[in-house]
Amino acid sequence: MEVNFIQGVIDQDLAEGRYQGVHTRFPPEPNGYLHIGHAKAICLNFGLASENNGWCNLRFDDTNPSREDTEYVDSILEDIRWLGFEWRGEVKYASDYFERLYEFACELIRRGKAYVCELTPDEIRDYRGTLTEPGRPSPWRDRPAEENLKLFDRMRNGDFPDGTMVLRARIDMGSPNLNMRDPVLYRMLRAAHHRTKDDWIVYPMYDYAHPLSDYLEGITHSICTMEYEDHRPLYDWVLEALELRDCPRQIEFARLNMSQTVMSKRLLRSLVEEGKVSGWDDPRMPTICGLRRRGYTPEALRDFCARIGVAKANSTVELGYLEHCAREDLMARTPRVMAVLNPVKVVLTNYPEDRVETLEAELNPEDPGAGTRAVPFARELYIEAEDFMEEPVKKFFRLAPGREVRLKHGYVILCEEVVKDPATGALVEIRCTYDPETKSGTNSQKKVKGTIHWVAAAHALSAKIRLYEPLYTEEQFNPNSMIQLENCKIEPWLGQAKAGERFQFIREGFFSLDRDSGEDGLVFNRIVPLKDSWAKMEKNK
Ligand code: ATP
Ligand code: MG
Repeated sequence: MEVNFIQGVIDQDLAEGRYQGVHTRFPPEPNGYLHIGHAKAICLNFGLASENNGWCNLRFDDTNPSREDTEYVDSILEDIRWLGFEWRGEVKYASDYFERLYEFACELIRRGKAYVCELTPDEIRDYRGTLTEPGRPSPWRDRPAEENLKLFDRMRNGDFPDGTMVLRARIDMGSPNLNMRDPVLYRMLRAAHHRTKDDWIVYPMYDYAHPLSDYLEGITHSICTMEYEDHRPLYDWVLEALELRDCPRQIEFARLNMSQTVMSKRLLRSLVEEGKVSGWDDPRMPTICGLRRRGYTPEALRDFCARIGVAKANSTVELGYLEHCAREDLMARTPRVMAVLNPVKVVLTNYPEDRVETLEAELNPEDPGAGTRAVPFARELYIEAEDFMEEPVKKFFRLAPGREVRLKHGYVILCEEVVKDPATGALVEIRCTYDPETKSGTNSQKKVKGTIHWVAAAHALSAKIRLYEPLYTEEQFNPNSMIQLENCKIEPWLGQAKAGERFQFIREGFFSLDRDSGEDGLVFNRIVPLKDSWAKMEKNK
């Protein structure tokens, strides 16, 4: 695999003896479900740790109690494991360190590097200045340490209303980097925390909690996305102001953006809350649980993350590329069976009414080890409506009046007559004859131009099939992103399928059995269609 630039930094750090090993962490905020962008960060952090014989922690960044929930914690644990990664030791929480972080803050105060500020949030913003104007010092900036310590303790005890006092770093109100203009380190917030409940009234800010949590865990390389680049001076300042040793270093990389979907938790949550999708695991969602339910494998997601690479420049990856990775993975692992999405009846007039043949068909022609299945063949069949044209256009080589076509695994049939409803003109059935000399796998192979899939009418099972289109088109939610076909006909062999199992429906794509299947029948998700515009593009390059 291509070596990414972060591995380059690590190699240099190890060569220079800056660090003895490579210790990373994945730090999700438990305020939503993980998405494919998080998968990129997970593969990167866990991947770098294992490639360098180090370890990776899982640490929940739970410093903002108002939006967090254990439901999200549980889903995140499940998704990381499903992706195939295991963190070192116990799951960590930033909230585990609240007491230590509080002590560090007191130390900053004693060192004259933090102070309690009584400006309102609006005043703090106003005093901060702009990109072109320096900030102004808070009137509380030069309070004596003793007084700051007492006030900070009283903040902790809840002696003041929320929002009236904050603890700020004492850095530089003239810094060109706005993050360095005495940023807030602690705020008061009377909100129940999902783990520490009502123990705390002061909560640390991310920019303060993160470097110290990394430090406390012995992280060496703290990998995050580009928007934190301007926060790196603050990350380093916190550690330096406390004169800590063997400190972690922050390295930023470009977040994953994808076309035709959304990746922000806020937007994903609103799709769920507005009922536009059935939940976080709706198969259209770019969430890990949504992709899992759709039928993606962890291997396909890991392969995708490896192939898109890691860089500093922002870019957008085509949704089609993810589908391409899925297709390559599914091609090798799925049994190939027949399902008719839009059935139309075919009657073989010269086939005995009471006869049923059992054809033996390979489950995967490329993998003899996959075995075979029994496919019943009888007088009445269903074929795909699209595979018949009463007035065939040029280059249509499938079934049409007077034309022959091969039934996959079966016989060559000839279309003799088309029966329509006299009142509506709708197609009722297609009458054909079969040629008994043309059975697949025998010597008498008649050459015809088209081969189509089919199922035996009396033996087929009915199923619902959900077809998916991109969740977003032209930056808008796509209301047609799911279409459910109600009356599909599938091979009886599929009756034994279990939820989550994946198949290739020949000529139609890759499908997985959805957990909505039950007494009302089977429900399949189309993972991806067979057509691969990516493979074509690569070939034509
Ligand atoms: P969102 O903006 O979707 O709410 P977030 O960055 O707030 O995401 P976190 O839970 O804080 O979500 O993310 C955990 C880790 O995953 C962080 O290190 C973050 O940088 C990384 N991450 C989040 N989104 C992406 C993405 N699209 N591509 C790569 N990494 C990401
Ligand atoms: Mg975040």
